[in-house]
Amino acid sequence: MNLLDIKSNEEKLMILKRGILHRLNLLDKDKKRTSNPLPESLDDQAVAIENDEVINRLDTQDRIELKSINDALKRIEARVFGICISCGYEISKRRLKAMPYAANCIGCENGDD
Ligand SMILES: [Zn+2]
Repeated sequence: MNLLDIKSNEEKLMILKRGILHRLNLLDKDKKRTSNPLPESLDDQAVAIENDEVINRLDTQDRIELKSINDALKRIEARVFGICISCGYEISKRRLKAMPYAANCIGCENGDD
């Protein structure tokens, strides 16, 4: 992978990271709002609990993605970006284009050897 490719992946990762941080911030505000005491009616309680579950799920997904992005940025710094962490071969450009924070090549991701 040449320097230009790495640069463009780094930019993509930074944009993704900004988006996630923004979303996590909004989710955080949402959480604070929904941590109020549960509403009186059982129906409203069910809705409130369901909302909490959705927010928590999104939050968890975002945090996992954020970690993957930070790891990818570290790999750029360490000059090992684009190299599969499992087998050491290059990750295909097509895969990185779809998922710039991919840490594994498609073979390792699918569990093939
Ligand atoms: Zn691999």
